[in-house]
Amino acid sequence: MKNISLLGSTGSIGKNVLEVVRKFPDFYRIRALSAGRNIELLAAQIREFRPELISVAFREDAAKLAAMLPSQYSDIIYCGEEGNVKVASFDRSDTVVTAVVGAVGLVPTLAAIKAGKNIGLANKETLVMAGRLVMQSALKNNVRILPIDSEHNAIFQALEAGRREDVARIILTASGGPFRGKSAKELVHVNPTEALAHPNWDMGQKISIDSATLMNKGLEVIEARWLFDVEVDAINVVVHPQSIVHSLVEYVDGSVVAQLGVPDMKIPIAYALSYPKRLDLGLSRLSLSQCGRLDFEKPDHDRFPALKLAYKALELGGVMPAVLNGANEVAVAAFLAEEIGFTDIAALVARTMDGVQQGDEMVLEEVLLADQRAREFAQQEVQRIRSGE
Ligand code: MG
Repeated sequence: MKNISLLGSTGSIGKNVLEVVRKFPDFYRIRALSAGRNIELLAAQIREFRPELISVAFREDAAKLAAMLPSQYSDIIYCGEEGNVKVASFDRSDTVVTAVVGAVGLVPTLAAIKAGKNIGLANKETLVMAGRLVMQSALKNNVRILPIDSEHNAIFQALEAGRREDVARIILTASGGPFRGKSAKELVHVNPTEALAHPNWDMGQKISIDSATLMNKGLEVIEARWLFDVEVDAINVVVHPQSIVHSLVEYVDGSVVAQLGVPDMKIPIAYALSYPKRLDLGLSRLSLSQCGRLDFEKPDHDRFPALKLAYKALELGGVMPAVLNGANEVAVAAFLAEEIGFTDIAALVARTMDGVQQGDEMVLEEVLLADQRAREFAQQEVQRIRSGE
């Protein structure tokens, strides 16, 4: 039996985690839940899974949530970062699934590691911002970080086929997003609704936009660098529009081991939670003959410059990946609010990387400061674009 704290229970990944838990009640038990602002759904989840600790993003929502639930819950509802940290380090949990979106995942994930919890990691921004620090802390506290991100889960599976010293290269697949076929001119005019219509995966808003810019793949390159301790030049990206091959590992003898499957997040979630056991999830099986063909192509860095920015951030090192991430979060929010255009996103991230100073990536305070400075700088850039300067 695994006792789970779930951070981000009402998001796309969170809901899938609860589906897996619901299907295997003898294996998993939910001990603590945290969510953002969707308190109606959270209340329904609490009635079903009966957690012993709960957190929401904002204080006013904590009061609203308490009013929706039987009175015994009012004493165990917390809020904000403090609440997320409480959920992440809850003493009745042994496993923490981090399914929150963005930089808010970092501090609670570190708290969970320090409390000795194994991590099911869906929050890639944690490793983007402070990968070296997080992995060292995991090593020191003897906890496992099992990837839920589908590409990294695929790599994790493909790495089981050989010895780590025999790995030549990691190849991440990217769907290419909804704008793969659009020209540079057309990209200037795409709107949030078009950007949110991902061809293969049903995901939250932030990751859907990241997928459309290819920044998601950039963040995943950084995530892979720390998670698997591979050098940046041994991580490649290939565009694979069907999202059937979830990623690959090439060994020194030329063998390439891939993980394939239907695009359903319950597969990587269940593998991360049940490793090394595999669970029959009752999903429809992959039919290669029905797929007919699998296509692969190089990413187009001219139309989608965000991917190169992530490589650059890794090469510059220090807190630069945290700067990239903070700027991107501001830019994506501004695009969703229709304050800036689609092609402004990568341009704004690039300018922020030029404008924000370096810091020590092993000091949490410096990482958080870099994130804050990047956000302030990026916000000024948004204002500049809006005022047409
Ligand atoms: Mg992914």
